Amino acid sequence: MSECIFCKIVEGTIPSKKVYENDSVLAFHDIQPAAPVHVLIIPKKHIPTMNDVQETDAALIAELFATARQIAAELGIAEAGYRLVNNVNADGGQVVYHLHVHLLGGRKLGALLS
Ligand code: IMP
Repeated sequence: MSECIFCKIVEGTIPSKKVYENDSVLAFHDIQPAAPVHVLIIPKKHIPTMNDVQETDAALIAELFATARQIAAELGIAEAGYRLVNNVNADGGQVVYHLHVHLLGGRKLGALLS
């Protein structure tokens, strides 16, 4: 069994509040939301970081963003606006080493850089 917490969510051995799922991607609510809407969109395939993405993953990466856009629309934040974030490695603030895109919205977000 995988030691990766997000792989365990994909496997269903750790519960999650799912927002969307298909054969290749899964989206679920972040356990510690930083905004009224905070959804994580992940590939089901284990890719540790953006640094590990291969050219053959191009369609999968596009699907992550398409899924984020679809969820933003379904949750009613598309017009007001939202933010997509991908943290990479320690200086980028990455804590879970399974590629994920944060979808944040539902309030006016502050300055991006800190
Ligand atoms: P990172 O800093 O970009 O790696 O973000 C990891 C995110 O995963 C954080 O926002 C955490 O709150 C979130 N997280 C960690 N464990 C779980 C979980 O079991 N369910 C949902 N979200 C989680």
